[in-house]
This record gives sequence, structure tokens and C-alpha cells, in this order.
Amino acid sequence: MRHLPQSLLRPLLCVPLLCAATAWAGKAHRHGVAEMQLAIEQTQVVVAMEIPLDSLVGYERAPRNEAERRAAADALVKMKEAGSLFKFDAAAACRAKEATVEAPVLEGKAASGKNDEHAQLEATFVFVCSDPAKITRIEVNLFDTFKRLEKIEGQSVSVRNQTKFVLTRSARVFKLSGQ
Ligand SMILES: [Zn+2]
Repeated sequence: MRHLPQSLLRPLLCVPLLCAATAWAGKAHRHGVAEMQLAIEQTQVVVAMEIPLDSLVGYERAPRNEAERRAAADALVKMKEAGSLFKFDAAAACRAKEATVEAPVLEGKAASGKNDEHAQLEATFVFVCSDPAKITRIEVNLFDTFKRLEKIEGQSVSVRNQTKFVLTRSARVFKLSGQ
């Protein structure tokens, strides 16, 4: 299974990652609940997240004063700290390669979200790992940074399996099955 050709892996990865954007679009989010898509590939791990702005800063509109602008900028900086937000087994030797964070409303580029009532942050993280097969657990550390975040509903896909998971403040470690 580990030597599954990339051509076979691609359609599988499309399910949660590439197709996720379409699934997310237009769907009303729930405050306190973030969504996470995780793809463990042959040499890298890709994490895509969508988080209601309410869970990050407590509102879903453009910052209105200096304090709110500072809080928004702070949230954006913290969301880019991929190495702190996600911890893998040391044996897998993963390091953060890319962190793409988009939140036009928080950045002051848009007055409100696409549907006017809600706005979210979308983030994609890429980790390069020397040995992704050694990943048995992924600790997700967003709950300490963002106190309003209560739950992460996730989906993981690898060459071995595809699974859904839920993380909370007291259960923040995603354990890979089928190791
Ligand atoms: Zn909302």
C-alpha cells in the first residue's frame, strides 16, 4: 500500500482536499466549530482548515478600532505558526514548509463575509516529513491559542485509510488508526 502510485492517490486526495472548498462554500458554519481536512501523502502532510472568525476574535466583521485591529493581526500571526499549532511524532521528522492564511474580513479587505452574516478564516499548511509513515499522532494546539474554539471536526486521508475525527480542548490529539 505504501508504494501506491501517485496516479491512484490523486483521486483519493481530491475527496477531502480539493473538493472541500466546494463543500464548504455557502454552508453556514457553527460558532466554536472548526473544520479540518488532513492528507498524509508520501513525503508531506497537508492540513486545510476553516475556522469561524467568531472562534478566533469573537466577531465576524472588519475590526473597528485599534484594539480590534491589533487582536485581528495577532490572530493572523498565530494562525501562521504552523510548527506550534501542529505537533507530529518526532520520528516522522516533519517541518512546516508553507502556511497560507486567508481572512479578508480580518485583514480589512472586506467589510463582511460572503453571505454577510458569517465570515471565516481559511488556512492551508504544508509539512514536509522525512518519514510520514512514522506519524501515529497529531497534536492540534489551537484550543489554547483560541479560547472560543470548542471543537474541530476533521477528516483524514492517507494511502492506508480515510477516517473522520473530532478534537476538543480535552482531546486534542488525532491518533492514526491502522498503524
Ligand atoms: Zn459565524
